[in-house]
Amino acid sequence: HFGSQPSRFGAGLFGADRPVLRAVDGVDLEVRQGETMGIVGESGCGKSTMGRLLVRLLEATAGRVQFDGIDLLTLKGRALTEIRRDLGMVFQDPWASLDGRMRVRDIIAEPLDIHRAAAGAERRRRVAELLEVVGLPASAAEKHPHQFSGGQRQRIGIARALSLKPRFIVLDEAVSALDVSVQAQILQLLADLQREFGLTFLFISHNLAVVRNVADRVAVMYLGRVVESGPTQALFEAPRHPYTQALLSAIPVPDPERPRTRVVLKGDVPSALAPPAGCRFHTRCPMAQDICRQTPPPTVAVGPDHSAACHFAASSLMN
Ligand code: SF4
Ligand code: MG
Repeated sequence: HFGSQPSRFGAGLFGADRPVLRAVDGVDLEVRQGETMGIVGESGCGKSTMGRLLVRLLEATAGRVQFDGIDLLTLKGRALTEIRRDLGMVFQDPWASLDGRMRVRDIIAEPLDIHRAAAGAERRRRVAELLEVVGLPASAAEKHPHQFSGGQRQRIGIARALSLKPRFIVLDEAVSALDVSVQAQILQLLADLQREFGLTFLFISHNLAVVRNVADRVAVMYLGRVVESGPTQALFEAPRHPYTQALLSAIPVPDPERPRTRVVLKGDVPSALAPPAGCRFHTRCPMAQDICRQTPPPTVAVGPDHSAACHFAASSLMN
C-alpha cells in the first residue's frame, strides 16, 4: 500500500512534539512531525532559499539542518541520496511553459529513475497509483503537461513529489499561481494526503490568508532570518515582532471592533548579501533604538511556543 513504508529511523522515535527538522545557526527553525509549518515574508526574504536548502537543492555555506537528528549538510554520497528520498518539493507550476516534450508518466517517474527505485511494470504501476492518489485519470500518463489546466498540472507536481514516498515536503508557493477555487481544491488534496500518509509540510507563501488557513505554526522570515515563530493563531492575533506587525497590518481586517493601525515600512529590503549590522531589520523598523544598530537581538520566548528576535519583544514597549 502506498505510503506504508516504515520509517528507516523507527516509528518509535516519534513523540507528538518531536522536531523532525531543525535548522540552526541563524535561521533557527524547527518543524515537527506531521505538522504544516508556514513560512512567510516579502519576496527576497530568503523563504525559497531556505526551502531549497532544507531539501539540499542548494548547498549551505554555513549553518546546520537536522532531519530526524541527522545533520543533513554534512551527509555525502549514499547516505545523502538515501535521505533525499524522504524530502520532496513542489514548486509553483514549473511546467506551465513546457512545450510538451515530456510525458506526464516520465515527469512523475523521474525521481524513481534517478534513484533507480522502480522500472518496467513496477514503474508503470507506481505512476498509475500516484495519478489515482492525486485525483487524475490513468490516461493522464500518456499526455503532456500543456494539455492540462494549472490545477491539474499542480496535481502532477504533487504526484511527482510523492513518488519516492517522502515524509517531508516543501511546498514553495505551490498554490500561488492558481485561481481561488482551484487553490481550495489543491489545499484540500494536500490536507488529505498529509493525513493519509503522515506527511510533514513546510508551506512557503507570500499569501498570509492562505498560510493562516493551512498552517499549524508559522515562521516569519526577514533577510534570511526567522524573526518570529509561533502557533498560527497566536502569531496572527498577537504578533510581537515589529516586522510581523507591519506585514499583518497590510491585510484588511473584516472585524471593525478590532481595528488595526497600518504600519508602513520605509525603504526597500536591503541586500541579503550585505545585511545591516545588528538587527537586520533596523533600517526599516519604526521602533529601532541605538542598540538595534549594533547588537543582533536574541530570540526570546514571548508566549507558549511563541518566540521573537527583537531586543524589545519581551518588554511592554512592544504593546
Ligand atoms: Fe526593531 Fe530593534 Fe526590534 Fe530589530 S531589535 S525589530 S530594530 S526594535
Ligand atoms: Mg520565492
